[in-house]
This record gives sequence, C-alpha cells and structure tokens, in this order.
Amino acid sequence: MTEVMAALIWRGKRFLACRRPANKARALLWEFVGGKVEPGETRAQALIRECREELGITVAPKDVFMEVTHTYPDMQVHMTLMNAEIAQGEPQRLEHSELRWVTPGELDGMEFCPADEAILQRLQAEHPEPKEAFDPDCVGKVIREMQGPCACGRVHATTVRDIRIGKGLVHRVGEILQENGFAPRLLLVADRNTLAAAAGVQESLGGFQVETMLYPDLRVATMEEVEAVERRIAGQDMSVLSVGTGSLNDICRLACARQDKLLALFATAPSMDGFASYSAPIVQNGFKASWPAKSPEVILGDTEILARAPAALKSAGFGDMIAKYVALVDWQISALLTGEELCPRVAELTRRAVDDLTAMADRVTRNDEETAGQIFASLLLTGVGMSFMQNSRPASGSEHVVAHCLECKQLPEGIVPNLHGEDVGVCTLEMLTLYERLAALETIHARPDATDWQAVEAFYGPLWPEVDRLNRPAPVTDGIAPEQLQALWPQIRAIIRSVPGADACRLAMERAGCKCTCAQIGKPRELLDDCIRFSPYMRRRITLLRLLPMIEEAETR
Ligand SMILES: [Zn+2]
Ligand SMILES: [Zn+2]
Repeated sequence: MTEVMAALIWRGKRFLACRRPANKARALLWEFVGGKVEPGETRAQALIRECREELGITVAPKDVFMEVTHTYPDMQVHMTLMNAEIAQGEPQRLEHSELRWVTPGELDGMEFCPADEAILQRLQAEHPEPKEAFDPDCVGKVIREMQGPCACGRVHATTVRDIRIGKGLVHRVGEILQENGFAPRLLLVADRNTLAAAAGVQESLGGFQVETMLYPDLRVATMEEVEAVERRIAGQDMSVLSVGTGSLNDICRLACARQDKLLALFATAPSMDGFASYSAPIVQNGFKASWPAKSPEVILGDTEILARAPAALKSAGFGDMIAKYVALVDWQISALLTGEELCPRVAELTRRAVDDLTAMADRVTRNDEETAGQIFASLLLTGVGMSFMQNSRPASGSEHVVAHCLECKQLPEGIVPNLHGEDVGVCTLEMLTLYERLAALETIHARPDATDWQAVEAFYGPLWPEVDRLNRPAPVTDGIAPEQLQALWPQIRAIIRSVPGADACRLAMERAGCKCTCAQIGKPRELLDDCIRFSPYMRRRITLLRLLPMIEEAETR
C-alpha cells in the first residue's frame, strides 16, 4: 500500500484543483496537490514538501479532512487529504498542466482521478450551493464597481453605459436606443449574413429615420471602409447601429470615435472579444495596426440569436478568449521589466473571465441560451478590461501579433483571412508551448538585443517603412539591461507558470470545437514560423516573444 498525502486548500468559497501533466499516468485528470510519503517523513512533512515541489508554496497543514483507499492498475493507494493553508507564496504550475480555484458546484466537466471520487461527493454534499445562475447584469455590475479612481493610479472610465444580454432583445433595439438618447437619424451598418441573423431588428427601429450601409460580407476592416462610414455621418446629427461582429464593429468604433457619434453594437455571434473594446484593429496600406477608437455606448446581445450562431463562430470566440493567458503573461513580464502600467484588478477580471469560459469548454458550441449569454459576458468583460486600460494589453499578447502578421503577409496574395479567433487560438498554443519551454530553463544567459535587422527588413519587404518607424528612435528593448533580464528570470518563470499550459489549453480548445493546428487553419508551417520570429517588430510593445533575441538559449529551441 502506497501512503499518499494531499492538501485541500481553500480560498474563500473555492478550493485548489490541480490538473496532471499530459506525459504522466492519469494524464490531464484533476487531483489535489500532494504525493507519496517518503521513508522517514511524517505525513505533515510529506505534505509540506510536496506542496513546495509542485506549487512553490509553503503550507501549514491543519486537520485531516478525509482518508480514502483506492486500487489503481499499477498500485494501491491510501490517501490522506488534509486541510491546509498557504503560509507563503502563490501557487505556480511547476508540475501540473493547469491550476484552478473552483467551488464544489463548478466541478461539472472536470474529470478527477478515480481515487478522489468519494472526496468530491463529500465536498459537494457539504457545500450544496448550486452553481450561480447566469446574471444578465454581470457585466454592468463590474463596470459600476470598477469605474472611478483605482489603487493602480488610474481613473478607470468607459463610454459603455448600457449593456444588455437577454432573450428577445432584437425586438426592443429601437426603444433601447431612444432611452440612450440616440439621434433620430440612424445609420445601420451590417452585412447580409448578420442582418439576416438579426431578423426583426429593422422593424424595431420604427421611431428612427434609418439609412443603411449593407456589405455583402465584410472580412477585412480597412481604413477605406472606416472613411466610407465617416462620410455618411460627418457633420450630420446621426448615431450609428452596427449589427454584426468583428470587422463591422471595428470600422464603426473608429468612425464614430473620429466623428464623435453615439454607437450601439448589436452582436450576432459570440465570435471575438472586441465588442466593448477601446481600440480597433484596422488595415491601412496592407498593414494591420491597433487604432485608438472608442467603446460603444450601448451593447446588446440577444441570447436566442447568440445561441443560434454557427458553431465555428462560437469556437472562434473561445480561441480569442484563451489567448488571454498569453496576454496576461506578456503584460506582467513587461510590467516587471519596464514598469509598464498594470492594474491588478483589470488583470484579475480578465483572468476570471477566461478561467470561467475555459471551464465551460464542453458547452461552447451548444445551442443553449444560458451558455451563449455566459460566453458573451466573458467576451464583453475582457473588452471592458481593455476599455479600462485604454489599450489592448489585458487581452492581446504575442499570439495576437503573430495572427495579425499572418494576415498582413497573406493579404497581398488575396488570401481572405480566417476568423480572427481561429488564427489567434492556434497562435496561442504555439506561444504557450514556446513559453513553457523557456520556463523550463532555470537560468538564462542574456545579452543585448541581437535582432538581425536585415532579416526583419527582408521579411517585411514593402511594409518595412511602417515597421521601421515603430522601432525608432531605438528598439523597444533599449531600456532593458541583459543583467536585469537575467536577474528577474525566476519571476518571469513564475509568471509563465501562473497560467494553464499548452496541453490543458489544447484539450479545452478541442472540447470547444476549435481548430488547434497550423494545418487546420490552412497556414504553411514555414510562414507561421517566420511570423513567430518577425511579428514582434510590428508592435512597439514588450512581450516574451520580443525578448527572444536577448536570450542565448532561445536559439536552441
Ligand atoms: Zn482578439
Ligand atoms: Zn486599476
């Protein structure tokens, strides 16, 4: 019989669940942190050692919560689960593929090791709170709570003033816009598919004098289209209603920002997180850049319509969300190295939104209104986070830049981009894999930025002048000393390991119906590798990917 110790660690109503790595027995199953008692150790000593080895924390063991015996094909275990408190440190993923704080009501869809079965039953029996029902006002609540002066030094503000998620909203759009003081003349921007999906919206606009801009199928948000919308509203007493997702919203957000017009978005699919966002990714002269725009005043999501949206769009939304793990890592690393502004509350808001959505992976593609409402709310929350920071840091890291780079390289060849979240999802897995490989290095040898600028110029070709400008007067790495990067490496490793690893994310994406490989998104492997290498130069922003030319060991990857 093998003696095993495990820890039950609570934080408020949630306890810590740990997911086993893909390369060990009981791969990717959930468990409690712990392990075998070594000869000569007491049970408490074993528990403390295991928590230190697996999570990098020091725990104070309390009383025994439960003892169980289980026979696996390879061994028989006697496991003692002890209540424990964290005395020092924040859990890091040193062994596991994912860590999650969950309530006993949230265990649906999480597969635990068989030995834990009886424990989970007891936890659920002792904490019978059902999972909280979806609150249609959850996003509004967050905005009201967080708006205003914050400990981070910023005064968080957003122009979003009315967010509604619910059934049958499509028939009330006109009434809601009137309540929000929209001008009697309204420009309705949509494409054929989105307008068909939102059947009933035009009929609801009876009180307005409506002019329509209808696209056949807008896949690329270009500056020409932004200007076309601007020409329709400039100097007029008009407001704008965008019915759709993605590119349609992006052009409207920038056009309305420039012309200072009220904007409402009626979402037809939970396919990306840009609804509440402040910045807009727009293509100009073949170069995709993030433009400061504005958040819409009104955002509406009719759960019936969102639930009916094609599965591919929902999966793409999931891909866009899982990217937040990389974004959060890059943001924290930049804050650590450069002092870039980071609001812990916004970071926590984003983290909670992506964790909640990841936990729902199995249900993402279902035609179910409550699920669709929850997905939409998660997407909105990360947009609100961007809006609060007035930049895209909380939601977009190196993975987004790689995806934008792919798009830029292929646009001149006339290749219509994939759904944003499809490319972003695959790039997220690429980044997580790369970052984990780096986190495995205990120490690094750092050197001054060894970028081969001739190679960068050759890669960008005609786009080079745009890229060159972003890297002047000095490259963004200029303020980072190699010694500093070397000295802070342990913290950087801990940041990487604070988010789920590539294996856990891949599994969640598969469950959510996402494309997971370069081949599935139809991109040549060499092109993706080139974009991974050269994309960081198209943004003036520190990411771990941008730091690779400062890390000698990175070359051996
Ligand atoms: Zn995105
Ligand atoms: Zn803040």
